[in-house]
Amino acid sequence: MLQNIRVVLVNTSHPGNIGGAARAMKNMGLSRLVLVQPKEFPSGDATARASGADDILANAQVVDSLEDALVGCSLVMGTSARERSIPWPLIDPRECGAKAVEHARGGEEIALVFGREHAGLTNEELQRCHFHVHIPSNPDFSSLNLAAAVQVLSYEVRMAWLAAEGAPSKVEKFDANSLRSNEPATMDEMELFYEHLEKTLVDIGFLDPEKPKHLMPRLRRLYGRSAVNRSEMSILRGILTETQKVARGEPHKRKD
Ligand code: SAH
Repeated sequence: MLQNIRVVLVNTSHPGNIGGAARAMKNMGLSRLVLVQPKEFPSGDATARASGADDILANAQVVDSLEDALVGCSLVMGTSARERSIPWPLIDPRECGAKAVEHARGGEEIALVFGREHAGLTNEELQRCHFHVHIPSNPDFSSLNLAAAVQVLSYEVRMAWLAAEGAPSKVEKFDANSLRSNEPATMDEMELFYEHLEKTLVDIGFLDPEKPKHLMPRLRRLYGRSAVNRSEMSILRGILTETQKVARGEPHKRKD
């Protein structure tokens, strides 16, 4: 599954950073490295910084353009150390990890794209990305070393992957969120759900507001019996959201 996630480095100047990125990736279980016109590669500096991750370097794909690096990907997330003039969907590394894992589990190919040490990614390159990822660093000193930025994103991918695989994470039992997900949904959450449900049923033509036939009280009774917990509630809300998208003819999770 993690093989569906590739790391793309654009025009890297210092081969040591390529090695550092390879090591960071291997530590976190990622293996696919794509290099767009690296200044110097292969290189002894890259191998030295990779430590034991030479296999990642040996299998790295070297290509001529970002376009070539992104072949087969349906989700591209590009990193940026600073705010750009063009407004674009902006996410943090945690959301990036979650999205990468969610899509990779569905069999999609994902790219995480990193820019040049001195100039980052161009606006044109950033506009090829679905999302921009910013590591929320000190605004007065926001630029991380390239390999360090690769480390942060790879770590977030790993955390999202561990959570998704249900693999035992040492911190799991202290995670307040995972404890909360087993708690029953609160009344206010249930009210929001019923509002959402009613609206969706009207949208898809199942509920006629002129002739409601007690549908909502009946559904309230049904769901009220089910002792819905918080994580089940988020599944139900997700189903409603996707149903509404389909009803409106908007792009949704399954495109076929
Ligand atoms: N002067 C460049 C900095 C490039 S740092 C600029 O202003 O864009 C080299 C690469 O490391 C960036 O292109 C990006 O891929 C990554 N990077 C560094 N700091 C980052 C941050 N705070 N958030 C996201 N990516 C970062």
